[in-house]
Order: sequence, then C-alpha cells, then structure tokens
Amino acid sequence: MRIAIAAMMHETNTFTTQLTPLEDFRPVEGEAVYSSDYWMKEMPIGGIVQVLRKEGVEILPIYFAGALPSGVVTSSAYQVIKEKIVSGIKAEAANLDGVCLALHGSMFVQDVTDPEGDLLSALRQQLPADLPIACALDMHGNITEAMVTNANILVGYRTAPHIDVVQTGARAAELLLLSLREQRPFITRRAYVPLLISGEQSETDERPMNELLPLLDEMEKTPGLVSASLFAGFPWADSPHCGVNVVVVGDKDRAAALDQQAKWLADRVWEQRDNFNFTTESWPLPEAIEQALADPGQPIIISDAGDNPTAGAAQDLAIVVKALVERGVKDALVVGVVDPACVEQCFAAGEGELVHLNLGRSAYREDADPYPLEAEVVTRRALDSNRFAVVTKDGVMVVIAARRFGVTDPCLLGELGLKPEDFKIIVVKSGYISPEYQRLAARKMFALTEGDTNLVLTELKYEQVPRPIYPLDEM
Ligand SMILES: [Zn+2]
Repeated sequence: MRIAIAAMMHETNTFTTQLTPLEDFRPVEGEAVYSSDYWMKEMPIGGIVQVLRKEGVEILPIYFAGALPSGVVTSSAYQVIKEKIVSGIKAEAANLDGVCLALHGSMFVQDVTDPEGDLLSALRQQLPADLPIACALDMHGNITEAMVTNANILVGYRTAPHIDVVQTGARAAELLLLSLREQRPFITRRAYVPLLISGEQSETDERPMNELLPLLDEMEKTPGLVSASLFAGFPWADSPHCGVNVVVVGDKDRAAALDQQAKWLADRVWEQRDNFNFTTESWPLPEAIEQALADPGQPIIISDAGDNPTAGAAQDLAIVVKALVERGVKDALVVGVVDPACVEQCFAAGEGELVHLNLGRSAYREDADPYPLEAEVVTRRALDSNRFAVVTKDGVMVVIAARRFGVTDPCLLGELGLKPEDFKIIVVKSGYISPEYQRLAARKMFALTEGDTNLVLTELKYEQVPRPIYPLDEM
C-alpha cells in the first residue's frame, strides 16, 4: 500500500493588517519532513507517519507548509503551496492507494476565502474518483461545504488547549487504512451552527465543551459512523465560512443517517449557545489590574487577550505597559511586546543603561503613535532565532522581542534571568493561559483588551460572516 502525505496549516486572522508570505510557512519538501521535530513531534503529520510506518505502508511525502497564526496569506504563497501539493500527488496518482493531509481549516488567502476547500477540490479533480482523501484538522477550523464534499475523511482535534494534535493525525491515518482494508468508501457530512465563539469560551475542560465532547464518543458507537468531530471555528476572521460545525464520517451509502447524527449534535450545541462563557474570570483592563493589586497572592497572571499572537495578533500593542506604568504598579512583568527597532536599540546600549524607546503601538489603530518609554536595559539575549531585551521602568518590566512568539512556555523567563515568583502581576500576550503558566498562577484572569483578537466579538467589524449569526444577531 502507498499513501501520499502533505500539509498546509495556517490559522488566518483577517483583522491584523500584516500579510503572511511563503517564507513564514518554512516549507519542507519530500523526505526532509522526517528530520523536522516540528512536523514529526508537534503536528498531525507525526501521528500520520507513526501509524503508516507501524502498518508497513509505503509513504510518499510531498510538501509541508505551516506558519504561526498571522494575517491574510498572500495569493502567491498559496499558489506555490497548492501547486506543490497538487502536482506532487497528481504525478504519482496511478501508484497511490490514498492521500492523508494535515490542514488547519481556517486559512484565508487574499483572493481565496476557502483555500482548504479549494485545495481539496483541485485534488479531487486530478485524482481517480475512488482514491480516498483523509485530513486531520484543527478544532478551530471554519469548515466549508467544499471541504466536506471533496474529502472522504475529516477529523478534528478534541482538546483546547490542543494536546491531541499528533493523535488526531494518527486517527486520520487509521480511518484511511480502515476504509482501504475493508473496502468501505467513506463520506463526510456536516451540520452548521450559526454561532461565533472564541477559543477562550470553548476550552475543552470547561462547560459546555466538556459536556458536548463526550457525545462524540457516543455517536461513534452508531453503526456506519466511524468518526465525529466538533469544530468550534475561528472567530477572528471576517470570513463567509465562520461558524461552528459538527462533522461526521461514515459509510457512503448512509448519507441520510449521517446527516441526522450531525444535526442532532448541532442542535445540542445550539441549545448551549448562551453557555459558552469565558473559561477564566474576565475584566476590562483597569479592573483586571485593580483585582490583581487587591489580591494577596502572587503572581497573578493576566492575559492581554486582545493581542494574542497564537491567534494571529500582531503582538505589538503597548496598551498594557502604559496602563501599568500610569497606575504606578510595582513588580509587574509584561511578556512580551514585539518591536524590532526597540530590541536593536537595547542591544546597542549596555545593560544598566537608560534608553528612550518608542514602543509598539499605544492604541489599537494602525496609525497609533508608539508609546514613549524611558527605561533601563536589564538583559539582552538571542534565543530560538529571536532576540529579546528586558527593560524596566518604575517597577514595570517589559520583555521586548524582535519577532512574534507564542507566550506559552515560562522557561523563557528563566532564560532571561527572571523569576516568576518575584512579580505581583505577570501579563502574558495570550488568549487562554497555557497549562505551564497556569501552574505558576496564584490567580488567573483575562483582560478584555482591544486588538486583533478582541474577545468581545460584538466589538469587531465583521462584514463577510454569514448572517444571522449568534451573538452578533438576536436569534
Ligand atoms: Zn486551534
């Protein structure tokens, strides 16, 4: 048996103005994927490869492109990725038994609103009609009709924060092998729920997700239904494909029963529409700071949720730094603001020297002035192909980075010579707070800040999302 594998993974935030070029995808071709820890240990491709190898299947690795969440993908980047994947698989089509892909599900290209659907329909057109295509997808995929029609198997992560990424790849590969070995052609069906929810309202250990997800296991006991997934969707995209989807996979001759099953869970999700509350206590920024100061514990971890790079925000807003300095907070740390020019300035100065910085943006507007900050340089370090400077101003320490990075691993603080326990408040540019940061927290909260990932979805300027949709519209 011979199966082609490929990946195209990007969560696109259409509210951020920076475009995402091909370089950001760090593409890997052919067998080079096997020596990439990123693809083999962190991504669904790792699980796909494990299963196919274990089952003695010959693997044909094609092309693998994945980028950090960021702005709209350039048309030229997408055309390269599509061409590499489609032509690579087409060239071997006669010698293939199946295709197994890792896609995100919420990519958005300058001139293509549904690139995953576009890629899958291009593959479907180029491949024999009975060659099965399986995909592993992120739980935050905005699933479309073109994806469902053109793939035989779609499987989503079941955890957020995502800790089953590799396992989901394995599951997609297992279902593909099941279909081939038992000669059971599968189809995918979906039921749409007109609901916009953020990841911070749908962590899977919290209600109502922890009540809805076990229903997937129940559904999978139905004869003829081999997989059920609940896609929460991605709300920071002004996309005609936004919303929640229930996706089921099963035998081709059972379409009506599969539709009924998907609709049943979609109705359960809809009934819960008012229960997707923030999974962590949430406050406007000034109140979050006051709550933290009044609390005897430390450190209090506050998420600057409007400027979350792991959901594609630019990570360059200095709004929280300004608020902490103006409030006169002592022993606060902000991790971290992106400003390459400020990092250069700190590297040029010595440690202990005073620098006059113009940091990031002082408000959530493209033309907003930077925040003027006269601060002392504490540390400068080059780490993980990024450059970091730590500066301090009247008891407020700020980590400044040359490039965006996910604020998920507190080990960074140690590498910068900082001890979490020394701080009363640690602000992380994050949405939901990573398990590692949660472990440090005496208390945790979301600050409902402005930005590309504003958690107050009704404040975002949507023009293209399907209407009506809850909670933008009364339904
Ligand atoms: Zn996700």
